[in-house]
Amino acid sequence: MNPLYDALFAPLARRETPLMTLADGSTLTGDQFHAMIAGYAAALRGLGVAPGDRVAVQVAKSPQALAVYAATVTVGAVFLPLNTAYTPAEVAYFIENATPVLFLCDPARAETLRPVAGTARVETLGAKGEGSFQGQAAPGEGPEPLAPEPRDPADLAAILYTSGTTGRSKGAMLSHGNLLSNAQVLADLWQFTGTDVLLHALPIFHTHGLFVASNVSLLTGGQMIFLPGFDLEQVLAFLPKATTLMGVPTFYTRLLSDSRFDRALTAHMRLFISGSAPLLAETHRSFETRTGHRILERYGMTETNMNTSNPYLGERKAGTVGLPLPGVELRIMGPAGPLPEGEVGVIEVRGPNVFQGYWQMPEKTAEELRPDGWFITGDLGVIEAGYVSIVGRAKDLIITGGYNVYPKEVELLLDAVPGVVESAVIGLPHPDFGEAVFAVIVGDVTAEAALAAVAAELARFKQPKAAVVVADLPRNTMGKVQKNVLRESYKGWFG
Ligand code: ATP
Ligand code: MG
Repeated sequence: MNPLYDALFAPLARRETPLMTLADGSTLTGDQFHAMIAGYAAALRGLGVAPGDRVAVQVAKSPQALAVYAATVTVGAVFLPLNTAYTPAEVAYFIENATPVLFLCDPARAETLRPVAGTARVETLGAKGEGSFQGQAAPGEGPEPLAPEPRDPADLAAILYTSGTTGRSKGAMLSHGNLLSNAQVLADLWQFTGTDVLLHALPIFHTHGLFVASNVSLLTGGQMIFLPGFDLEQVLAFLPKATTLMGVPTFYTRLLSDSRFDRALTAHMRLFISGSAPLLAETHRSFETRTGHRILERYGMTETNMNTSNPYLGERKAGTVGLPLPGVELRIMGPAGPLPEGEVGVIEVRGPNVFQGYWQMPEKTAEELRPDGWFITGDLGVIEAGYVSIVGRAKDLIITGGYNVYPKEVELLLDAVPGVVESAVIGLPHPDFGEAVFAVIVGDVTAEAALAAVAAELARFKQPKAAVVVADLPRNTMGKVQKNVLRESYKGWFG
């Protein structure tokens, strides 16, 4: 038994129909992809990669890159994908932390990255599959048929580092069982079948594109339109051939910004899914007005895969992330224990989806993963009529003069002010209040006008004591707003 190979990749060996359509319109059949996996598995074994070893990759998105993921778990090793935007200095941290035996990188960057590879052997893999790693791969299946390494559901399949929005990225250890159980639940809930064509424009170094999108599609025998990234023209061109799209909220705002994106273009689509960051209720509503489709929002994270989802058949509520997934327990914790519906606290989850701990960080693991299996997500949320809403991150909660202020409440009001594009509300050190509420605003508006516009709707202690208007909010490579960077930039504002 090799849980991920058996469920996701073995069925491809006999599939002569297309698995992927690429940006240039060419296709790759299931058996071609399976042969690629077999060749790479032989290459990994030939390079001495043993079960449990880490294989780090920082390569462009391509069918080959996805096949490396498949080959790695098939030979029992642990897949460690890295964001392609990471600089050599950043890569150094991950390699030092995870001590991979093999590091695959882009041919053009090999010389820059070699010095940070530590003891890892460096091989290259380019966007078209070129590079030294290809040379190691046996053609087709090679002389021996592919023999997957036996693995238990509890064995590690991947170490995925968190996005580093709140601090240094942590390596979440994910088992075969974690990944497969979540893919099964999602495929079932979202009613994926072999007739689905998923428009895949997400990166594959993150849980969203790698696991949620690819695993669900592979598990159900569907097809993928596998694009290197989100390019508006490409996405508009391929949409008529797709049945489903998974995206981050910016996919949807970008689509809405183009008038060609309309009811006719999306008429045959079955499902639009959003996650990784909050989808504004307003985007949800404009999307429905424009297309007639209600985006299905779900919530998850690197450590847990997906935790909640709006229903496929029932009501998809804008501004909420839906209900706990089947098999996933979710509770809202306060200082003295679980809280009833309607009260805001820290979201905790437990289930077969929850990771095995942070790689090489026993103290962090002990802080966030309780002995009885509950994972403390660090997100603040509230449950209303069974539906979970994310209020923000616990680390972003502002305590001013002893009162709690949830940034999101203030941001929603600011975002509704004419001229405001978006906003981030943070707490800054203040000599009298401990922390003071501070707003960073993007838009064609003055700070005074924006603050005046929301004053009437907010209790005094929630009103920002000051604001600045800036050109952009700082975001990490996953597009998430980095409030820690903002707090650092403006920390001296109130003296
Ligand atoms: P780090 O843990 O290193 O600070 P990160 O938490 O941003 O980084 P990820 O695991 O990529 O790293 O992101 C998970 C987080 O993304 C969740 O904890 C949550 O805050 C946010 N998130 C995911 N989906 C949603 C959603 N639908 N609505 C709001 N927030 C979401
Ligand atoms: Mg996190």
